[in-house]
Amino acid sequence: MTLPPWERPPFTTPDTWRRFTAKVIRTSTCWLWTGALSDGYGMFHDASHQLLDSASSTVRVSRWIWSAYNGPIRASHVILHDCDTPSCCRYEPTVQHLIDGTQSANLQMAADRDRITNGARLGRADLRGQHRQSVAIRTALLTAVRDGEQDPDRLAEILADVIARGDPFSTQGRLF
Ligand SMILES: [Zn+2]
Repeated sequence: MTLPPWERPPFTTPDTWRRFTAKVIRTSTCWLWTGALSDGYGMFHDASHQLLDSASSTVRVSRWIWSAYNGPIRASHVILHDCDTPSCCRYEPTVQHLIDGTQSANLQMAADRDRITNGARLGRADLRGQHRQSVAIRTALLTAVRDGEQDPDRLAEILADVIARGDPFSTQGRLF
């Protein structure tokens, strides 16, 4: 399986798009950021970016990619990971792992997934914590690609394996 070319969205420049896509490993499921991370979220520096409602030119990749396709993000809106993988930045015309919504929608979605109990994030949250999960994903995928792995299906299996290692409900019987 090969993925189609990742066409540049309208609200960014060719140079910035090249810099962004060079840091992303696309699997057949999630597309993962392999650059800088903060609290598990991918961070991207774009000094020319004037569309975001942020004072900083370093923004979460989820916000950056959303605005690269759609233009400015409304101040009251957050970009949510529908796939529950904070370092994912898959957003394209046909398949989107990111949605924009209000903070209350975010909390409702988390509650619906039983991730909030007595105010604490439990349930599906990664046992290693969000940041260590993202670091583990980044390390595993970069290693696989360096070793020559290019098949997006195989990269998706590697990703699923890394996530399963931190899943409290994993049935794979792993030691951690
Ligand atoms: Zn995803």
